[in-house]
Amino acid sequence: MQKVKELYSGKAKSVFTTEDPDQMVLFFRNDTSAFDGKKIEQLDRKGAVNNQFNATIMQKLEEAGIPTHFEKLLSPQDSLVKKLDMIPLECVVRNISTGSLCRRLGVEEGLDLNPPTFELFLKNDELGDPMVNEYHAQSFGWATMDQIREMRDLTFRVNEVLKKLFADAGMLLVDYKLEFGLYKGKMVLGDEFTPDGCRLWDAETREKLDKDRFRQGLGNVVESYELVGHRLGMTFDYT
Ligand code: 5GP
Repeated sequence: MQKVKELYSGKAKSVFTTEDPDQMVLFFRNDTSAFDGKKIEQLDRKGAVNNQFNATIMQKLEEAGIPTHFEKLLSPQDSLVKKLDMIPLECVVRNISTGSLCRRLGVEEGLDLNPPTFELFLKNDELGDPMVNEYHAQSFGWATMDQIREMRDLTFRVNEVLKKLFADAGMLLVDYKLEFGLYKGKMVLGDEFTPDGCRLWDAETREKLDKDRFRQGLGNVVESYELVGHRLGMTFDYT
């Protein structure tokens, strides 16, 4: 499937139409951004690593019965996906306290959250992706209560699959963000699952292996993403 026309360019991916109105191509760029686009850098190999990392995770989620938009890898940096009607909300599950949760609530970092928390954020860079609740979502028409329940249930099912996957490879899935959309009326996982949108810590040392390395200027960003992939048995094609 060929890219026909660029539909839009996000902070790390560009989206292209194809000859099939139901399918699109995601091109994973090397751009890496943080703080709602205020810090941006190009990191060698990141597009290829994230594209292939995402492909593996999406396939594992599909195998576990979670519907995703992923169709197939087209090249090291391109994937074919279903065209979704996106819901403008980010669904975040947290297994361990850190990040904005600690800043917002003044709670200690590194607490095991039992049960894990679920939060909704509005996708809006200008406003800094503010946290919203299900009533905001309904009142402003971003999602219905049934759709919110469905996104929440799927986000927790992803947690069960991926917590175990990472734990078996010596890592803690601390938290992550998912985005959903509708495909022919059905709720489907969209966007990506990569170390750009989750936190992963080494289970022994609690070393950060995700985008916090970029946010906090810790270095070895792509090398850490590759390490996570290698621990999960992935190999990457950079050609
Ligand atoms: P926090 O709310 O602590 O900043 O983020 C919680 C989790 O969601 C982290 O794993 C973070 O990477 C992810 N996340 C939240 N918002 C975004 C976003 O706008 N883009 C990306 N890539 N990840 C996000």
